[in-house]
Amino acid sequence: MRIIYSRAGNHAGVLRTPLEMRRIVPLGSASSAAGSGRNRVRCTHQLWLNMRYPHLRSSCVAVLVAFALALNARAQGMGDAPQTLVLKNVTVIDGTGAPARPGQVVVVENGVIAGVHPADTWEAPDGAEVVDLSGHFVIPGMINGHVHLTAHRGDPEALLSGMLRQGVTAVRDLGGDTRTLAVLARDARLGMIDSPNIYFAANFFGPAFASDPRVRFSSMGYEPGTAPWAQTITDEVDLALAVAEARGTGATGLKLYTSLDQPLLGRIVEEAHRQGLKVWAHATVFPVAPRNVLAAGVDGLEHTFLLLAENHNGQLPTTWAAGFHEWLPGQATPGVAGSSEALAPLFAEMAARDVHLGTTLHISHRLARMEPEVERGWSPSAWANQEAWECKATKAARDAGVALVAGTDFDGSIPIQAEMELLVGCGLTPLEAITAATLAAAEAIGVGERLGSIEPGKVADLVVLSSDPTDNILNVRNVIRVMKAGRWYESVGAE
Ligand SMILES: [Zn+2]
Repeated sequence: MRIIYSRAGNHAGVLRTPLEMRRIVPLGSASSAAGSGRNRVRCTHQLWLNMRYPHLRSSCVAVLVAFALALNARAQGMGDAPQTLVLKNVTVIDGTGAPARPGQVVVVENGVIAGVHPADTWEAPDGAEVVDLSGHFVIPGMINGHVHLTAHRGDPEALLSGMLRQGVTAVRDLGGDTRTLAVLARDARLGMIDSPNIYFAANFFGPAFASDPRVRFSSMGYEPGTAPWAQTITDEVDLALAVAEARGTGATGLKLYTSLDQPLLGRIVEEAHRQGLKVWAHATVFPVAPRNVLAAGVDGLEHTFLLLAENHNGQLPTTWAAGFHEWLPGQATPGVAGSSEALAPLFAEMAARDVHLGTTLHISHRLARMEPEVERGWSPSAWANQEAWECKATKAARDAGVALVAGTDFDGSIPIQAEMELLVGCGLTPLEAITAATLAAAEAIGVGERLGSIEPGKVADLVVLSSDPTDNILNVRNVIRVMKAGRWYESVGAE
């Protein structure tokens, strides 16, 4: 399903810099705002690159000057004249899990949500720009809670622009080359590229994982295991320095991967928290089972399928290769007992401590439908068993009150909507799936105060839908327009 608001070549209402004219085009209008936003941002970005490598193109100088003035004005606290944008007669699904509220007005001032009111009791102030969204629905900008952007082999800017236009306004990247991620995150934050905001993790693991191809790929130029964002950790490592180096990459948190023992996990978590970093871990950090990873004090467990080890009372493999490729494929046999009983103590503890579960259901969904031998040790039927087990575990986690965070665990090219649909297929309500891809994800990253819901004071990251996602979660793909920090972007639909 694909619905495109803007006509070909019409980048209506795409806004770029604070000094550019802000002009919102009513839905359904054929008129367009000035110029091509995409070309302009290409131009500014090209100029930025050219500033780094002094080959300025004269055709872009005016834009550069405008951009520099805008930055300067901002730096001096001058900013724009107050700007009020009113989204009128819209059904609000605010991301908190509250029921949909029809007939609302959402007021956006200078990129921030200033208020949400019933439409019939509220008058737009003089000078406000009013967009009538009758018959439409608005949800918070979606957040893909588990991506690996630097695994993408194509143009990263095209990938990010596509994600944004599908409704994703933030991502959490849980492992990659942070040299690249930091540049992209910076450019996204400054509005120099069309992109979700990018938050990312530095990876810690035991010596056995340093030779993994993903570590070598993401830390080219370093001896594997020594890059600040992909570090081998042992009892001999100076943890204060290791965490400080990870933090210096710009990471928001650590991702604990594999081959670490429980006492070391505990020391890493303590030091990371002392330095203000979140700690996200594989649900099983081989050989440490989920309950013991949780006991180490982590803030989130990733991958529902790795909860399978909670059913196991013996010694777990000590490496990712042995655990994932040899041990795990045989675990989710159809005979394995229901998740809810085996996982109940774990889920109760997660709910009590507000530790989220990163679902990543799309992994087994995807791999169960691929040809055999795509993943060493796994067959499509093993993934299919895994998928069925995960579904039960996900539902049990929901029933226990665990915060679920939607993520696709891919390079970003799989729409977050796909994960939301799988969550609903496993028994969540559409409202719960929306929360998993909005507020719960923002809270997992640690930015829930500013992002993730449609509430006064939050950044105006919004997605306008043409049909009701609470009626059918597939409708969350029917994106009409996307707003990030008060700026509109045309939709490309989510296929
Ligand atoms: Zn991952």
